Amino acid sequence: LNRRLAEFGTTIFAEMSALAVSTGSINLGQGFPDTDGPEEVREAAVRALRDGRGNQYPPGPGVPELRTAIAAHQQTRYGLSYDPDTEVLVTAGATEAIAASLLALLEPGDEVVALEPYYDSYAASIAMAGGRRVPVTLRPHEGRFRLDLDELRAAVTDRTRLLLINTPHNPTGTVLTRAELAAIAELAVDRDLLVVTDEVYEHLVFDDAEHLPLAAFPGMRERTVTIGSAGKTFSFTGWKVGWVTAAPELVTAVRSAKQFLTYVSSGPFQYAVAEALALPDSYFDGFRRDMLARRDILAEGLTAAGFEVFKPAGTYFITTDIRPLGEKDGFAFCRALPERAGVVAIPNAVFYDDREAGAPFVRFAFCKREEVLREAAERLRRM
Ligand code: PMP
Ligand code: GLN
Repeated sequence: LNRRLAEFGTTIFAEMSALAVSTGSINLGQGFPDTDGPEEVREAAVRALRDGRGNQYPPGPGVPELRTAIAAHQQTRYGLSYDPDTEVLVTAGATEAIAASLLALLEPGDEVVALEPYYDSYAASIAMAGGRRVPVTLRPHEGRFRLDLDELRAAVTDRTRLLLINTPHNPTGTVLTRAELAAIAELAVDRDLLVVTDEVYEHLVFDDAEHLPLAAFPGMRERTVTIGSAGKTFSFTGWKVGWVTAAPELVTAVRSAKQFLTYVSSGPFQYAVAEALALPDSYFDGFRRDMLARRDILAEGLTAAGFEVFKPAGTYFITTDIRPLGEKDGFAFCRALPERAGVVAIPNAVFYDDREAGAPFVRFAFCKREEVLREAAERLRRM
């Protein structure tokens, strides 16, 4: 492994999912639903396969049906208009969208300011692009992980090329507020920065939280690359359909990198996701309601088991603090948890440069059937 990647090794998700299988534990580690997305969307994929749509290389930017559906989604949900021909790009999941954006937009040595804890592919993708990550740490404050705007401003230097934002935020469940997003936008405009914003959990916001796309803030449309994922929004993580919406020059740049990574992907699934994006509001409302019920089951279970719970305003993850259990090392805790309780979770420290700051936090995924969550909660309570 070369020097750029040496620090990364195997992803925590692979390690912990393997541990779940080998110990027969309930896997609340890796974030994938244990129930597939809508039947009619699966049928749409079968139809595409059978009718020979997408079985050969689809067009480089994605099939027109899907690009049109993505543009329509941004328009109807957020009032953002994007031209499906020049401002939308289909990618192999959000993961490729992130990697291709960074590979396309960074010069070696450029600094990327990213919220910490950060989704693990961010650090690796910045490294592959030869960039330098500059983390700004979200810290617990009144039950929520909060962004310190002064710290964010102080992190920007003359070498900063872009801000890498994620809202709703994995792993903390924080949803950035209008005021926080407005401040980020002001900073980006003021310092003339590009922004890559990972909004894959855009449809998973709870209570009175609202997902606001950063691209909709003043001065942002032309400098923002927005990323979405059908894996997250429709519970088909294995299909690897993601997308980018941005101004034409940015989409062209990202596409230049993308064409040498995968060229294209997921042919028949692209047609199915085009249909999924046109599902009525009842689908999106139902998805959110189901996940909210699951959040509450797991949050209550974790609280009863003695964890401090940061109730997430978005995503399908709950971050906990294990110190009330008399523990302080999330890595050790997560490695022992399958034996102790038959449950797998993720140590948040893997999402930090400052491992010390992340040490006491552990993440549980709640995109699982209610009976599975109840059983996991019961096991943790008996632990
Ligand atoms: N960004 C975040 C914040 C995620 O949590 C995930 C997936 N779990 C991804 C990107 C990757 O999405 P995809 O599976 O579409 O590549
Ligand atoms: N994004 C999912 C998570 O955060 C996992 C995706 C992956 O395994 N790469 O758990």
